[in-house]
Amino acid sequence: MLFIKTLNYASYMCFSLLFVHCSLVLRFLTVSTKVTNTKFQSILLLNKQAKLWLQTALVAVLVGLPTACFAQPNRARVVIQSQSVVNAQESNRTFADVQALVNLGPRVAGTPVMEKASAYLIEEYRKAGYVTEVQTFTYPKFQDLGSNLTVDGTTVEGKALNGTIPGKLNAPLVVVPNVGRKADFAAVNVKGAVAIVRRGEIRFSEKAKNASAAGAVGLVIVNNQVGDVYGTLGEEVKIPVLALSGKEGNPLIQRVQSVPLNVNLNVNAQRRVVTGRNIIAHLAGVTAPKIILGGHYDSVPGSPGANDNASGTAVVLAVARNLSSTPTARQAWFIAFDAEEDGLHGSRAFVNKAQSQFLSGLKAMINFDMVGVNDQLGIGGTSSLTKFARNLDPQVKIFGSFGGSDHAPFANKGVPVMFFYRGQEPNYHTPNDKNVDLKLLNETTQVAQNIVKQIVNAN
Ligand SMILES: [Zn+2]
Repeated sequence: MLFIKTLNYASYMCFSLLFVHCSLVLRFLTVSTKVTNTKFQSILLLNKQAKLWLQTALVAVLVGLPTACFAQPNRARVVIQSQSVVNAQESNRTFADVQALVNLGPRVAGTPVMEKASAYLIEEYRKAGYVTEVQTFTYPKFQDLGSNLTVDGTTVEGKALNGTIPGKLNAPLVVVPNVGRKADFAAVNVKGAVAIVRRGEIRFSEKAKNASAAGAVGLVIVNNQVGDVYGTLGEEVKIPVLALSGKEGNPLIQRVQSVPLNVNLNVNAQRRVVTGRNIIAHLAGVTAPKIILGGHYDSVPGSPGANDNASGTAVVLAVARNLSSTPTARQAWFIAFDAEEDGLHGSRAFVNKAQSQFLSGLKAMINFDMVGVNDQLGIGGTSSLTKFARNLDPQVKIFGSFGGSDHAPFANKGVPVMFFYRGQEPNYHTPNDKNVDLKLLNETTQVAQNIVKQIVNAN
């Protein structure tokens, strides 16, 4: 503190001297620009620019410096405080956590890799001084066992949309215009046919329900982006739905518009009961926390899930490490949720098993999902909490949407929630989700930690 005040005083003296110097230079420039000669226009322009720059600088110095001197001690105090909480070693551990989870390969719920991922988290929480509990739950997991479409003896591989019913059938293929709204289906006859339509604009389930209502016996959705579709229907639909890449699907759309085609649609999917595992960490004896910090540690098939969501998992762990020897840790539980990608199964199992008293004692549930990519940190959730966050840190962006992640089941039970999220990015749910920015993880950790302390200590 003392150091900062001294520094400010010294810099003010320096700026004062600079001000005198600048005044003299400006006086010189004012005289020199009075010489008007087209030959020297460029020099004149330079002089004008220099003058403008100096004027701006002078105003900035005159207005800004006393303000800065006045305000600096408070701002500096905040920075110093947070630096003492997280040292460089802790920050690198956050990155190492993401790396360790990514190195396991795709963390698909219900597969053996989740045992390794959970063992890693249990060990890290233990090292940080916490006790852990593995909360298991079961759910019917959708599995695509290999689905495809055969035309004239040529089979192209597709992806069964998550949640579709299985089906094997032979029928004519009919192209539906646009994206498969009700009006689009009304423009063609799909009765008894397999309809083919482009992805986009409306939800998969809406396309499928429109197809079914129009009498189609199956639906093929063609990707409007590069690569395969890993989509979820989210609603029960009476017909099998297959997704094709644009590379496979677009030529088919072209062809069937000039030649009538019969196709074999084969959606080979099933539901299998699997076990998920939430990792719950807290200090020994903490049974009624005021706050829960959580994030899912599973990923989608084929994706190592660095940003989605090793990033959030690592941030929760980082906050736990940083707070472990503070009184705040006695008010908190830290949870790594499983099976978020299959439909929020882990967080839903947690709230369903929790006593109502436990849930009503929570001041907040804070969820972290995709916080390692994109500069702008966003916070969504219950408005009283987002306003609180805004007041603490005007840098964060408050977004309105609740979003479908692990805070949602808590919100449905009346728990105030917050959702830390940095938004969509190109590698989302792809094999390229391999990188996160350490700086962003640390920023998220700092902001979250500050908010957690304030929430716990507020009356
Ligand atoms: Zn996620």
